[in-house]
Amino acid sequence: MSTPTYTPMIEQYLSVKAGAQDAFLFFRLGDFYEMFFDDAILASKELEITLTGRGGGTEEKIPMCGVPYHSADNYIYRLIEKGYKVAICEQVEDPAAAKGVVRREIVRVVTPGTVMEGKVMGERANNYILCVTERQGLMAVTSCDLSTGELYVTSSPSNKQWLRDEVGLYDPAEMIGDAELLDWIAGQATPLGKPVVYTPWDKMKEENSRKQFGEAVWVRLEPERRDCIALLVGYLSETQKRQLGQLTKISSYEPEHFMILDPFTRRNLELVETVRERSKKGSLLWLLDRTETSMGARMLRRWIDKPLLKRSAIEDRLEAVDHLHSAFILREDLKVALQEIYDLERLVGRIAYGNANGRDMIALKSSLRQVPEIKSLLQGASSATLRRIAEEMDQCDDLADRIDAAIADEPPVSVRDGGIIKPGYHERLDELREAGVNGKRWIAELEAAERQATGIKSLKIGYNKVFGYYIEVTKSNLASLPEGRYERKQTLANAERYVTPELKEKETLILEAEEKMVDLEFALFTELRETVAAEISRLQSLAEHIAEIDVYRSLSAVAAENGFVKPTLTDGYDLKVEQGRHPVVESVMSDSAFIANGTQLCKDEASILLITGPNMAGKSTYMRQVALIAIMAQIGSFVPATSAQIPLVDRIFTRIGAADDLIGGQSTFMVEMADIQVMTEKATSRSLIIIDELGRGTSTSEGMAIAQAVIEYVHDHIGCKALVSTHFHELAHLESSLVGLRNYRMAVQESGDKVHFLRKLIPGAADTSYGIYCARLAGLPGGIIERAYGLLQNIEQSAVELTATTATFAATATVNSEQGKVTETNEPAVSLVEIVDKASLIEDENTTLSAEVVQLS
Ligand code: ADP
Repeated sequence: MSTPTYTPMIEQYLSVKAGAQDAFLFFRLGDFYEMFFDDAILASKELEITLTGRGGGTEEKIPMCGVPYHSADNYIYRLIEKGYKVAICEQVEDPAAAKGVVRREIVRVVTPGTVMEGKVMGERANNYILCVTERQGLMAVTSCDLSTGELYVTSSPSNKQWLRDEVGLYDPAEMIGDAELLDWIAGQATPLGKPVVYTPWDKMKEENSRKQFGEAVWVRLEPERRDCIALLVGYLSETQKRQLGQLTKISSYEPEHFMILDPFTRRNLELVETVRERSKKGSLLWLLDRTETSMGARMLRRWIDKPLLKRSAIEDRLEAVDHLHSAFILREDLKVALQEIYDLERLVGRIAYGNANGRDMIALKSSLRQVPEIKSLLQGASSATLRRIAEEMDQCDDLADRIDAAIADEPPVSVRDGGIIKPGYHERLDELREAGVNGKRWIAELEAAERQATGIKSLKIGYNKVFGYYIEVTKSNLASLPEGRYERKQTLANAERYVTPELKEKETLILEAEEKMVDLEFALFTELRETVAAEISRLQSLAEHIAEIDVYRSLSAVAAENGFVKPTLTDGYDLKVEQGRHPVVESVMSDSAFIANGTQLCKDEASILLITGPNMAGKSTYMRQVALIAIMAQIGSFVPATSAQIPLVDRIFTRIGAADDLIGGQSTFMVEMADIQVMTEKATSRSLIIIDELGRGTSTSEGMAIAQAVIEYVHDHIGCKALVSTHFHELAHLESSLVGLRNYRMAVQESGDKVHFLRKLIPGAADTSYGIYCARLAGLPGGIIERAYGLLQNIEQSAVELTATTATFAATATVNSEQGKVTETNEPAVSLVEIVDKASLIEDENTTLSAEVVQLS
């Protein structure tokens, strides 16, 4: 097959497209961006626009579709939201001056991780692009929000679980880096929020990065972190094709400085969105977020994503919240001032990126005008943290003044059509404006004079882009027009348009002045934008301070409204909460009051609570409440309790039923086991483990066996604080073999065959799980319910016998495992294999019960 011969324009299209294979190519043709071939077919479907064809030198027409350039943004962002990239190809020379086809080049590739417009990303959330690499046994992750200029980097000895957790924190829109790592992440059943676009990438820009961030910073970074950043910078310069002045600072951090929360835990605890609706409403973030600015909202979210592990840092935050908590008037005054502040981070990002307009400048100015008020409010505060912020705050008055002097109070959206710069700012501009005004006045006078001369009252002088200025006379008046002086330009249905030599002459002058004026305004605006961009670091750090104040204010307001208390952080082991509540469940309850429950997880008493009780009794709410209180304390928030003593928790693991329905492809049980495997590997004595309904998803006897073996492992080998709920009330016997375990149950009140939930945690184990009661509540037919009660009686009889056997066995098993550790291996930690081995031993003992269950099902 011979290659088709296309027209030169299509040839040009194809050669540009070769450089943007993975993106839609928006090819500028006059007032449109056109797409051709497969791009056109796909785009017409995705954007629901008409697919047409265009002759291109071949017999068959080439598929084509297009969007007007002035409304292109909307289409671009629709494609980005669907996870595509869009390469924008512009005419880069004046068509009038071009010989042959106008030169065209890609000027920017818009990708999901590099969009700059808030409405696409959601203003109150960050939009991250991540770069992941692995070099010589070290993995590194760089996370960047181009719209705000934030850039974070960290690294760790290679470990995919670590990578998964780190990636999960950022909820990226796009990931680049090592192909193999991207493949692995793409294949994970992690509950990543958005659809992620993956691009393997290996082109580094080391020199650019060094310049961008400064030699001093660059040399102090670990080599693997440097490489990772340089790769990202490589990708950004390839796609953005411009200086990225908003990237001024690298925030390099150590993973162990933060509490680790894997993606499942973050999801199970509904930290930033709910499991079911995936909405912010109903999450911890939703409850805590009373911020007034988008920067504050994003910072709060980052804090929730990364609770701190350094006591002094947490205490500094708590000190600020505490002060605002008791200072109602200050809180309200700050609120009023903060309400007037726009999204400084993104405004400044746009200014540095070069796409800010006059309105952005005005928004920046009016935000900066609020700063002195905030500063003075804080200077008088008795909180050391707030005073420190006030001292560090640079008001940037000089920048506000410059903007004020230059930019009109209500500038237009476009920066190319004039009307942005204030009179009095620039002498030459004022002269040109004066000339323009004079010219218009001259035209008005000419109109009056022509009317008088011709006697035609309806004669008028108009202007359009194609013909310029013209004199228009309706057809009925043509006869009154003197001959000779008027040159016909255009004929309309009922009028003729003319020019005269003097009108033409004046027109040239007016248009020249106007063009000069618009060009000069644009130049002056760009100059100002660059001046402001040069001060970007000052503005960024101001934005950060304002965000921080906003977060403290928000946390203190929520604490005051919900009756939270200041927690005490300790370096010890014991966790003690009096009258704890689940902050979100409590806040959405309207008809009844939330029942508070205390928690004591102590080294010398019980560090594991085994919680039994019927479904709906409040077990999982209680367990989540404990985790949330620890997280809230470590982000620097007050907590829902009457008092709380919280040790620094390095990691929270959760295994909670609800979320696993959502993970396609893997069985609940396999997911549970995989999570438990990670837990056995990573948990330390400073961790908190929460397991809801341990051992579901397999046969009862196996489930029970695994549950027992896991609990023993946590107790004997990890030694951390744990809350475990189970519907196997038979496991209660563990209290006698494990010194650090206590049985608790959710109290219920029975009257006749009715159960009333008291939601109160009390010592002791439940003696039945009330499953059949729930089945009845759910409306199962009476016959089934009766039959089930009958069968249950038989099974319980067997269980009583079995419990006796298992108790004896469990005691032996514990001893065996202790001995096994010493004699068979010198490894301090025992792997999951041991749990499984032990579980099957326990299961053998359970075969009688198993048989009964099979009969039931
Ligand atoms: P379980 O895990 O035992 O099945 P849940 O924790 O899911 O029970 O609780 C069931 C429902 O009971 C929750 O949705 C909540 O509305 C209510 N609830 C739970 N704990 C409390 C409490 N302490 N006070 C009041 N209502 C509660």
